[in-house]
Amino acid sequence: MAVPFRRTSKTSKRMRRTHYKLHVNGLSVCENCGEMIHAHVVCPHCGYYKGKQVVKTKQKVEE
Ligand SMILES: [Zn+2]
Repeated sequence: MAVPFRRTSKTSKRMRRTHYKLHVNGLSVCENCGEMIHAHVVCPHCGYYKGKQVVKTKQKVEE
């Protein structure tokens, strides 16, 4: 069985592991209000989708 010639240094190990990150799938930023929203879904904050108002949100209805 092959055995590593040298033990991997703390720095090497840590450098390698800097790329191990948690990430959240399917989230993007709303073009209208800048909130984090689910991709391919109407923005719940402003009711915009693809740059157009599609749904009236609570705030808009009150106005
Ligand atoms: Zn929005």
